[in-house]
Amino acid sequence: MGLLDTIKEKVAEAAYPRRCPLCGALINSNERICSRCSKDVEFIRRPICRICGRPLYTCACRRGENAFVRNVSPLVYTKAAKKGIHRMKFNDSPYSCTYFGKLMANSVRTEYFDCGVRFDCVVYVPMHRDDFRSRGYNQAMLLARTVADEIEVPLLSKALVKNFRNRPQHTLSFMERKRNVQGAFSVPRPELVKGKTLLLCDDVTTSGTTLNECAVTLLDAGAKAVYCVTAAVAVMSEMPAIKAAAFGAGY
Ligand SMILES: [Zn+2]
Ligand SMILES: [Zn+2]
Repeated sequence: MGLLDTIKEKVAEAAYPRRCPLCGALINSNERICSRCSKDVEFIRRPICRICGRPLYTCACRRGENAFVRNVSPLVYTKAAKKGIHRMKFNDSPYSCTYFGKLMANSVRTEYFDCGVRFDCVVYVPMHRDDFRSRGYNQAMLLARTVADEIEVPLLSKALVKNFRNRPQHTLSFMERKRNVQGAFSVPRPELVKGKTLLLCDDVTTSGTTLNECAVTLLDAGAKAVYCVTAAVAVMSEMPAIKAAAFGAGY
């Protein structure tokens, strides 16, 4: 780096101090996240479920249950990841979107590209237009844009639209979540997705019902296949104990 670049970087740092993309604390230029978050953040380690993307010992999904082929996520939705996703949703934090988007792109490379899966387009879970107006941005779209840039696949904006405002999914049981999103999405221009293999982006996978409903809608519109990537996946706290009992400790 030349002297001029170094000066420019120092000036930019003074004007816009770097912040941890997860908690917002000030960080040095050589840090990606703060030391506290680097202790708390939980990356998903192999073996992982080849359907829902959870660590295998926490997975309870069955083949054929979902319309999408697979989901992958770099992080477990706990502590630091929760904070970062909350920042991204409610604090208009572009550096958080970039941080998560780059991690998601890495997961796409290792879990999809390395297995020979290729995508025609990147799409994302839409917000209802009233919610979009009040928030001013859709974090799933910002993530999808970073992922699309990183993996060099075109972003297809507005492939899906949300037809109505439903109740927040996190307040509902699994069956209620399913009903809550049924018919919530549509594809305004089916010719844009017809015959295509799509990568669907969202911020977090909890029950997977939103991703599934989006995938059902895209497949009904003629898409060939839908794969998913989210920044983090929720793991049911009671699951590890059950699975550990079934498979043995350390599985
Ligand atoms: Zn932090
Ligand atoms: Zn699974």
